[in-house]
Amino acid sequence: MSHTETQPAAVAGTEPVFSPALSAQEGIAAATDLFEETFGEAPDGVWYAPGRVNVIGEHTDYNGGLALPIALPHRAHLALRRREDRIIRLVSPQTRETVDVLDLDAIGPKGSTGEVRHWNAYVAGVAWALEQDGLGPLSGFDAALYSCVPLGGGLSSSAALECATAVALDDVCALGLAGPADAPDDAGRARLVKACIRAENEMAGAPTGGMDQSASMRCRAGHALELDCRDGGVTHVPFDLAAEDLTLLVIDTKAKHSLVDGQYGARRQACEDAAQILGVELLADITEDTLADALATLEASGRSDAAVLVARTRHVVTEIARTQRLVALLQDGTPLAGQKLAQAGALMNASHESLRVDYEVTCPELDVAVAAARAAGAYGARMTGGGFGGSAIALVDSSAVDAVARAVVDAYAEHGFAAPAFLNAAPSAPAGRLA
Ligand code: ADP
Ligand code: MG
Repeated sequence: MSHTETQPAAVAGTEPVFSPALSAQEGIAAATDLFEETFGEAPDGVWYAPGRVNVIGEHTDYNGGLALPIALPHRAHLALRRREDRIIRLVSPQTRETVDVLDLDAIGPKGSTGEVRHWNAYVAGVAWALEQDGLGPLSGFDAALYSCVPLGGGLSSSAALECATAVALDDVCALGLAGPADAPDDAGRARLVKACIRAENEMAGAPTGGMDQSASMRCRAGHALELDCRDGGVTHVPFDLAAEDLTLLVIDTKAKHSLVDGQYGARRQACEDAAQILGVELLADITEDTLADALATLEASGRSDAAVLVARTRHVVTEIARTQRLVALLQDGTPLAGQKLAQAGALMNASHESLRVDYEVTCPELDVAVAAARAAGAYGARMTGGGFGGSAIALVDSSAVDAVARAVVDAYAEHGFAAPAFLNAAPSAPAGRLA
């Protein structure tokens, strides 16, 4: 595998670089200023949606299993004003010089004549998908984007963009789906999530599951979201880290390895093949009780890649069980401390080992980050997201955040890796309106 991007190398002893989250006031000001400068009038309002990070339950979504994401304090902010016609005009700081102009009556899926380019696909795609879902006709709109979710770090800057658009359009077009901030309408939001997923899959052409959009739209502050990826059912699980003086430290490895698309597809194919051999719809139908029998069946299948199917299946089934265990721990009503904290950390560590050995989706940068964090006192650490780069997470005492981050920087310097970046992942609020 090779790096596709060159980043400055980590230097031992240097200060760790943290990506700050904008406050609500800063987000409102940044998006509103950009809107007013660009379009010469005030927006109807500013809406936001968070990025997300998955605590445990990796590569389980397409197997019908469980995931446990939280919403980040890092958000995409969208200042938006409804128009009377069907035109969409978009601006973001990255494309400040030009305003992109689209027509709701002309846009269509990737590969069609109405194909929409780059980040516009995520925003216009949501409007298109809402209309496809029978919620139109919508009005056109002008929108200015200001996001502090790091791009391409596995923290779902794309879902943040979609979900901010969805709650804004829900509001200005009076769709009545998202509900007020103090009483979010979960069923309505699940419908908005579907439109966001459709925008990502069909308009942007990215074949992702629905975890990112569900997290951005349906999480709660101070909670993790247990998401059943088979039926979209959710449970809000207490995860108020600040109350326990704990921090979930995100380590953006800045590593991007090639072959990722092929590897993702290969993992999905192996899971489908294993499920077919086992006569189940999805691997989530296998439990820890039936795992030994299932693995024996795969071994005896006569396939040349039987050992691979065994390993992939073992990861999926044990990862779903680990997610269930962590959820049960977090729900037991006692503080996340002592033995309980050690158990939670051990589940995160076991998740990483399973992803490294059985699922083979880690990379040296992820493995080194996790090892350095644990050695510096993290209760648990694991890769998060699809793998082959992206981010790792470490559960640490808030007082130890700096020491753990420094230990990762030093380990990266020792290995000659690019400098990592960090962020503090306090479990935060879902998409909504700011002003
Ligand atoms: P991730 O969602 O993990 O950050 P993706 O590749 O799914 O990575 O999404 C990144 C894409 O989302 C970018 O290439 C860009 O098209 C779009 N995007 C996200 N944030 C912004 C932004 N602030 N300005 C413009 N485009 C953005
Ligand atoms: Mg994404």
